[in-house]
Amino acid sequence: MSLRKWIYAFEEGDASMKPLLGGKGANLADMTRAGLPVPPGFTITTDACRAFYEKGEKLPDGLPEQLRTAVAELERRTGRAFGGIDRPLLVSVRSGAVTSMPGMMDTILNVGLNDETVEGLAAETGNPRFARDCYRRLIEMFGNVVFGVDARAFERVKEETKSRYRARGDVDLPEDGLKELAQRYRALILEKTGRDFPQNAHEQLLLAVEAVFRSWNNPRAIVYRKAHRIPDDQGTAVNIQAMVFGNLGDDSGTGVVFTRDPSTGLRALFGEYLPNAQGEDVVAGIRTPMPIARLKTDFPDVYAQLVRLAEQLERRYRDMQDVEFTVERGRLYLLQTRSGKRTARAAVRIAADLVREGLISKEEALMRIEPSHLDGLLHRSIDENGPLDVVAEGLPASPGAASGRIAFDADTAVERSKTGEPVLLVRPETTPDDIHGVIAAEGVLTTRGGMTSHAAVVARGMGKPCVCGCESVRIDERERVLVAGGRIFREGDWLSIDGSTGRVIAGRVSLKEPELSEELELLLSWADEVKRLSVRANADTPEDAARARRFGAEGIGLCRTEHMFLSPERLPVVRSMILDEGKRREEALARLLELQQSDFEAIFEAMDGLPVTVRLLDPPLHEFLPDLETLLLRRQRLDFTADGADGADAEPEREELDRLIRAVRQHRESNPMLGLRGCRLGVVRPDIYEMQVRAIFRAAKACSARGVDVRPEIMVPLVGIPGELRFFREMIDRIAGEELGESRGRPPYRVGTMIEVPRAALVADAIAEYADFFSFGTNDLTQMTFGFSRDDAENKFLGAYLERGLLTDNPFQTLDADGVGRLVRFAVERGKAVRPDLKTSICGEHGGDPNSIRFCHNAGLDAVSCSPYRVPLARVAAAQAAIEAGRKVETKS
Ligand code: PEP
Ligand code: MG
Repeated sequence: MSLRKWIYAFEEGDASMKPLLGGKGANLADMTRAGLPVPPGFTITTDACRAFYEKGEKLPDGLPEQLRTAVAELERRTGRAFGGIDRPLLVSVRSGAVTSMPGMMDTILNVGLNDETVEGLAAETGNPRFARDCYRRLIEMFGNVVFGVDARAFERVKEETKSRYRARGDVDLPEDGLKELAQRYRALILEKTGRDFPQNAHEQLLLAVEAVFRSWNNPRAIVYRKAHRIPDDQGTAVNIQAMVFGNLGDDSGTGVVFTRDPSTGLRALFGEYLPNAQGEDVVAGIRTPMPIARLKTDFPDVYAQLVRLAEQLERRYRDMQDVEFTVERGRLYLLQTRSGKRTARAAVRIAADLVREGLISKEEALMRIEPSHLDGLLHRSIDENGPLDVVAEGLPASPGAASGRIAFDADTAVERSKTGEPVLLVRPETTPDDIHGVIAAEGVLTTRGGMTSHAAVVARGMGKPCVCGCESVRIDERERVLVAGGRIFREGDWLSIDGSTGRVIAGRVSLKEPELSEELELLLSWADEVKRLSVRANADTPEDAARARRFGAEGIGLCRTEHMFLSPERLPVVRSMILDEGKRREEALARLLELQQSDFEAIFEAMDGLPVTVRLLDPPLHEFLPDLETLLLRRQRLDFTADGADGADAEPEREELDRLIRAVRQHRESNPMLGLRGCRLGVVRPDIYEMQVRAIFRAAKACSARGVDVRPEIMVPLVGIPGELRFFREMIDRIAGEELGESRGRPPYRVGTMIEVPRAALVADAIAEYADFFSFGTNDLTQMTFGFSRDDAENKFLGAYLERGLLTDNPFQTLDADGVGRLVRFAVERGKAVRPDLKTSICGEHGGDPNSIRFCHNAGLDAVSCSPYRVPLARVAAAQAAIEAGRKVETKS
């Protein structure tokens, strides 16, 4: 029986084998092929990991034998012996999933050391202290990862030993101290687990491989996969590689380097270097490393080599790389390279620069942008005009500013965030176990660790502000207080961070809105070249309209006029329009006509030359009336106080209150969202819609007279019956005649409807007879198609549906393509059959969601409309949808 091949030497693999070899494995294979200085090794496949789980966490048949053969080959290649005393071979055992999951799984270094080989290593290197240090590190990692002994227990033993030897840092422990430490570690493992640290190198290796496979399912990896939608059955590969040593003395070291600045995208080596240290020390953030620029002065040859390699790597991988390297006695080795995580700001700059440098095409650049990250790019910054109480300064690890209430651990951050208040996660350093806290927090502050520490990498990936290595801040985790700048902050106190400068600021600060960078403008202009969907904004004020325009909106797709009714000055007029009769009502309508006209004029001016879709009043009228319970309470209080005093004085107030109470009761409905709202309101109270239409046309006329290019579009909400739209179309055309006259030079206008009641979609052909455009109100359409109340579903039951897998996405965020989407496609098809020039768009929340935008592109819609801040994101998502669709066509033909 021929056994499956579980192991590939680096020379055997290539970059296309990522699903089998994992990202790191495929990459090491590719680097080896490219002749880069990679220490030799091999990869155990993700297939083997899946087989391991299928067998109930046992290594699959044939793997141990293949492992022996691969190790023998490694021995031959390096001229070393695994488990041998003379020139011992040591290996690293590292996880490597298909999708990079930085720091989430386990790694063991120096496998192959035991009581004898450690002597061999000491003799070979002439550095016994170094050999002892490697050995104690192996026992510590092995004890933690393989045997599950708490890392803090090792830390305690180390601290005790250090204090006995009066050693301040780890590097101050003498050889004897390290020897003693190794023994005490072994005793600790024995005490905690009843098992001895294995002396046989091959046994060490097998146990290490099993442990790395198991680490695929440790809690932090599971949380990370969930957050990044990585399938649970993908499994991890394991990379086994000959060790090179960065801790052989002052001419050795280790570091992480980004080929461009991962915060800003600037083209310059960026990273950190720890002299006389081994691999994980940099990432773990235990010692604060020095900036890479120091390498230039301390080891100019190595630095020059690194610069050359960075260029070579970028040309080969056509992207910014995150490179781990080790210098062993002046010789540079690359341990891995991968596309570096970066902030959204850097992603944009790098994508634009790579196009300018001729490495990638515009389309590739666009496809590399994660649209949802653009949200974070439009980063808020601190308003420097106000007083700022800066209490400390750390490293500016991930840009943007955040204010939040302090949480000292990840669980508390998650709990507190549920109240809806912003939270700031404050930790000495974060470990991969804190991932859920980082997700819940607005930003992260750590007191230890550098720019490439875990907190920094993860926060940048998520586009969250982060300040790292803020050493002047002291955290007392037991007392749950933080001391900064001589002040005490408790859990729940407000604190702010500025991830762009590293500042830590007491209290809550006011945050400023972002501007678009030159590179983003460039990318967006490329997006506009390829996208087919037009992107508009939902905006109800001139300020929002202007912002939307700055962000590239091609018009307003939804102006919700009810928002113009809600200011404290206007509410009494609106109430009078609703509740009064006769002259008072007429006066209220006349006043509102004036106010609305000036609102529309300002918006038309801001959108000069672009279309503006104004929606007639939509919500149930009771939303403008006072709350019944409050009124009843006031009435009760009035009776109570009036009883003792002069009752007659309270009479007019009592009468007014009673009138209000009657009116509010009269407007009460059992199901207001399915009640008297939208165009039904226009049927029952045509005077309100007439007033609004008149205001729109008067504003259009006035603007037009001033030379503004106005393009009003009047939209009727909640239509479900073709006759409804016919009724309003006649009304609108009649008022247009009255207000604009019939002259040739009158501003053009269009009339359309929202499609947000399922019936409207079903009879779209009949409705299209009266419509110039359809705009899908996918908020209501989702609500009514599912029968899920949009006000209640999200906090009452959608969570349970998502947890149980009954739904994969929240349908109020991502358009439900199978159900709601089907109605949309049907309506577009039917509508266009009657009116081929019918314009179609969506204006629900989905208009700013990348997946929904892709749906709109594929369904043949003409436009999406979303909040002004999401306009840049929507432009990129629309471009990506067009590129993807084009590629599909190409592969088919
Ligand atoms: C909609 O229903 O999708 C819509 C845009 O209207 P509103 O959210 O105002 O009901
Ligand atoms: Mg609606």
